[in-house]
Amino acid sequence: MSSVKVAVRVRPFNSREICRESKCIIEMSGATTAIVNPKVPPNSSEAVKRFNFDYSYWSHNPKDEDFSTQEMVYKDIGEEMLQHSFDGYNVCIFAYGQTGAGKSYTMMGKQEEHQEGIIPMICKDLFNRIHDTETDELKYSVEVSYMEIYCERVRDLLNPKNKGNLRVREHPLLGPYVEDLSKLAVTDYQDIHDLIDEGNKARTVAATNMNETSSRSHAVFTIFFTQRRHDTMTDLTTEKVSKISLVDLAGSERADSTGAKGTRLKEGANINKSLTTLGKVISALAEISASKQKKSKKADFIPYRDSVLTWLLRENLGGNSKTAMIAAISPADINYDETLSTLRYADRAKQIVCKAVVNEDANAKLIRELKEEIQKLRDLLKAEGIEVQEGPDGKVVCEKRDPNKDEINNKVIGNSGNMKSPSKTRNRNGSTAEMAVDQLQASEKLIAELNETWEEKLKRTEEIRLQREAVFAEMGVAVKEDGITVGVFSPKKTPHLVNLNEDPNLSECLLYYIKDGITRLGTHEANVPQDIQLSGSHILKEHCTFESRNSVVTLIPHKDALVYLNGRKLVDPEVLKTGSRVILGKNHVFRFTNPDQARELREKITDNAENENEKCDTQQVDWNFAQCELLEKQGIDLKAEMKKRLDVLEEQYKREKLQADQEFEEQRKSYEARIDALQKQVEEQSMTMSMYSSYSPEDFHQEEDIFTNPLYESCWTAREAGLAAWAFRKWRYHQFTSLRDDLWGNAIFLKEANAISVELKKKVQFQFTLLTDTLYSPLPPELASSLSKIVQNFWTIVLGDKRIL
Ligand code: ADP
Ligand code: MG
Repeated sequence: MSSVKVAVRVRPFNSREICRESKCIIEMSGATTAIVNPKVPPNSSEAVKRFNFDYSYWSHNPKDEDFSTQEMVYKDIGEEMLQHSFDGYNVCIFAYGQTGAGKSYTMMGKQEEHQEGIIPMICKDLFNRIHDTETDELKYSVEVSYMEIYCERVRDLLNPKNKGNLRVREHPLLGPYVEDLSKLAVTDYQDIHDLIDEGNKARTVAATNMNETSSRSHAVFTIFFTQRRHDTMTDLTTEKVSKISLVDLAGSERADSTGAKGTRLKEGANINKSLTTLGKVISALAEISASKQKKSKKADFIPYRDSVLTWLLRENLGGNSKTAMIAAISPADINYDETLSTLRYADRAKQIVCKAVVNEDANAKLIRELKEEIQKLRDLLKAEGIEVQEGPDGKVVCEKRDPNKDEINNKVIGNSGNMKSPSKTRNRNGSTAEMAVDQLQASEKLIAELNETWEEKLKRTEEIRLQREAVFAEMGVAVKEDGITVGVFSPKKTPHLVNLNEDPNLSECLLYYIKDGITRLGTHEANVPQDIQLSGSHILKEHCTFESRNSVVTLIPHKDALVYLNGRKLVDPEVLKTGSRVILGKNHVFRFTNPDQARELREKITDNAENENEKCDTQQVDWNFAQCELLEKQGIDLKAEMKKRLDVLEEQYKREKLQADQEFEEQRKSYEARIDALQKQVEEQSMTMSMYSSYSPEDFHQEEDIFTNPLYESCWTAREAGLAAWAFRKWRYHQFTSLRDDLWGNAIFLKEANAISVELKKKVQFQFTLLTDTLYSPLPPELASSLSKIVQNFWTIVLGDKRIL
């Protein structure tokens, strides 16, 4: 029983963090990692959180004394794990962390000296130890597989025949495994190195063509390591088998589905079901070890089956394995939340306890058990009346005799579908026999694989290599040059394109040569065979051609093809300069190198003739550079486009404004004319009124008299005359009412009454109160009612009319 070993590693600032003047919020001391919360005051209790791990690697600044190099990480974790595998245990190292935190750097590293990661170093060391210790009595064999899990689908990175989705099965003896995943025999480190390289190429091609981002996929590199010891005395052979699983997980930023907001993020969380489930599995396992008594009961509730990754790594998570986890973190304050979440994740993983056992004689035992199982399945099928035979292609063919028709029904059970355990494969109409045949076929395949001799394995590996290279050659990807593997860093004489990818580990791993004369680029569906075959969004069957004459390469875009040169859309042919960025379609980004030109340029640069457009500092020209440049150039085009649109709008605005002004002016004039007319009318009316105001009411004994007045006849309509009559009646009724005069007249008495009140110290103040329908008082309502009554008693002015005029 041993706990999962957990290490944390902090990387240097990346360019984005430097640009944003980020602060380092990680501190390490011994095996402890502390994270400072940049959002709270430094002295508060919440400011620093500390975590203890097995290792805390300070890889932030190479100048620091306690800087941890790739070798140091390997020495602690890699060497220990390798020793476990020599002892016959299964081992697993997985790297966890947000995208760009340094998972791939730690696991795979770079090709340059001292930059290689754990995977190549383990492989190197493995073969060093093999070569040092191999004897006639002790033989080793190493096989590898390399797969990628993307959206719960398994892709074989080493065998081009295994296109797309491989089925994840569960075998009663073997447990979960990927059916048909190629396991290739390797004899030395170079073999593994080439396989990793070609696997990464396959991963890059698939990711680019399908516009996938590698940050969402898990890369699982597995080494099957077998040691055979032959005892000459007893003539007995014992075997130890170890499976070394090296896992570069998808970016953890999408793992937390609960925190995901918006459809895009939710989709991300769904895509990374494997990572979400890994979190749940780790939490469940940590809980179990925290409460050991409930162990056996709770074990059933670990959701291994919920994702492909956790299902395949079941043994490595709390099972038969020695497991280590490396949590990669960013040092920057801007990543505080993600980093804290990674540290918490790692903290939980610490609690997982594994029960590793030495896998001694595992293969022999498995072969024996598989043989027994096959016999059982055959018997079962026989009992169902099914004859089992081997088909010409090695597939199990079952023949069922239909008793009614006496016909023979042949059935070959295919291997389609994904992640189906036998019980799930069974549909409503599916028979036990069908399942048994399926299982039989799987077992036969496994036993055939186990019985394969080393020579056969090597032969098969070589066949697959040739197929792989044929596929790459057809796509125009250079794999070998003069018999040696083409690395992007190895010197080349021919002009070429090298791929750029968002993921630095997938960048610069595909090389396309531009041969002398014409090199065609398009899809595999084109009528004329294309030398460079791409696929995916916006790649035309015949997309563009490269013409190379006397070391001058011209890029000729085809009609309607999306071709960008240094961020600018290309319509006409143009000569490529070394260091140029070429973007084809939506996803394919390349850097062009012309070795002759590059050499000349280097000489020129040493003569101090640097030119911005002739960038030959290839290190700087990465995917980001090309994308920024594209955006910038397109941005400028956009600006021009926007300016054009603005000009049109301005023109339109001016036109409309002029029109509106004219309309306004006309309207103004018409209103003025109407106002004049009205004014005239008012004047006329007021004249008439003033004429009538000189009459005394007595002059109108009969109301209607005035309306018979010839003055009105000329200018009033019947309605106006009606209104005038109504107004006249009203005004006549009020003609002798003059409240103001009354008030003023009586004000002197009010004043006197108040004076008497003061003199008599009555503390009473008097004021006028109007007793009308609409009682008005300057006092607040509560006082107004009571006071008005007192006033009423003392002094009341009753007006003839209740209305105020
Ligand atoms: P991930 O795989 O987690 O997305 P990478 O391993 O690709 O991240 O790292 C992102 C970038 O940071 C790469 O360019 C890598 O070279 C660099 N990097 C990461 N870790 C380190 C380190 N410890 N030292 C130096 N560079 C590092
Ligand atoms: Mg990575």
